[in-house]
Amino acid sequence: MNTQAIIARDDANVLHTYGRSPIALVEGRGMYARDAEGREYLDFTSGIGVNALGFCHPAWVQAVSAQAARLQHTSNLYYTEPCGALAEELCRRTGLDAVFFGNSGAEANEGAIKAARKYSVDTYGPGRSKVLTLVNSFHGRTLATLTATGQEVFHRDFGPFPEQFAYVPAGDFGALEAAAGPDTCALMLELVQGEGGVVALEKAYVEQVAAFCKARDILLLVDEVQTGVGRTGTFLACEQFDLHPDIVTLAKGLGGGLPIGAVVMNRKVADHMGPGSHGSTFGGNPVACAGALAVLGELTDDRLAKDNALAAALRAGLQTLPHVQAVTGLGLMVGVAFADGVSAAAVRTACERQGLLVLTAKTRLRLLPPLILTQEDVDKALAILRSVLESL
Ligand code: PLP
Repeated sequence: MNTQAIIARDDANVLHTYGRSPIALVEGRGMYARDAEGREYLDFTSGIGVNALGFCHPAWVQAVSAQAARLQHTSNLYYTEPCGALAEELCRRTGLDAVFFGNSGAEANEGAIKAARKYSVDTYGPGRSKVLTLVNSFHGRTLATLTATGQEVFHRDFGPFPEQFAYVPAGDFGALEAAAGPDTCALMLELVQGEGGVVALEKAYVEQVAAFCKARDILLLVDEVQTGVGRTGTFLACEQFDLHPDIVTLAKGLGGGLPIGAVVMNRKVADHMGPGSHGSTFGGNPVACAGALAVLGELTDDRLAKDNALAAALRAGLQTLPHVQAVTGLGLMVGVAFADGVSAAAVRTACERQGLLVLTAKTRLRLLPPLILTQEDVDKALAILRSVLESL
């Protein structure tokens, strides 16, 4: 099928919930994808932070196909090896104590909210169920995580919403102090707001918030769905903020392309999530867990050190391009703000025509390259961006 036919069939039968580029990708390898006409694209999106090892990494393909050929699914009524192995590795890497597996970022955040409320009701009784989140946050599209998302634009038309959520502006400690009452059980935040425009929180603010929450036993839930699994240069972004939250959520890059989400928590919270408190048919699926184990196996200290050097080179190169006003984010989670009325959406379209896939977030360009990139990929992406920006 050619691109036109693929798009026409999709448009006729799939809900039009996404704003899509007129590109139909049919195969990929490493940093490159190919469309139905054989055109090649250098990928600086990794499927919005998912393909941590790029397209069809041999170790990932091997692990996933071997597991698919051995045991593709049971149910959570039985034990399987990959699920426990992945949970053990996640606990080791995060310093936390127990994991619940789901299938997406929204589900992971939903699980985190449930676990926080369960801890609170068991410890303090009912009525202490309010969850605070930050203005401009993004936590998912299910009703609870949509409510947790501090952006009015996503709420329109979908009410009524679950109760006991409130928003505080990021960076304003006084506002948090004022909003956190005796009814508050948790604060959920992203350390770099991704969909909100690739905006990192200030370390001093995060430290103040963490101390405040600890003093009041308000559980700290860090949504690392986008920032986690090496994206910002450390396994968790938390490490760069010296932060030890009660619950961390992961998804996106964890599965390397298969759907998986994880709620990783400390013993204090985990002890309240007993039999029947939560569940998921597909959660902990052996094939998804095998893929995740392959991702973690490739994410060595050496790889992260290389990624940090490449992130620095990419950021320095971006600063030299015309119309670039600011380069934001952390590590390989990069935002680019433009001056002179340059539109990130127009830059994205022009890049696609020149064979480079990039993203936008609010008014910014967003780059989330696979963590396997090389200096050559950085140079090529910068050259295409330069040519696009010089023509605007
Ligand atoms: N949390 C954050 C920080 C995200 O960036 C996203 C998705 O972009 C989500 C949650 C929701 O993840 P999913 O789309 O897998 O449900």
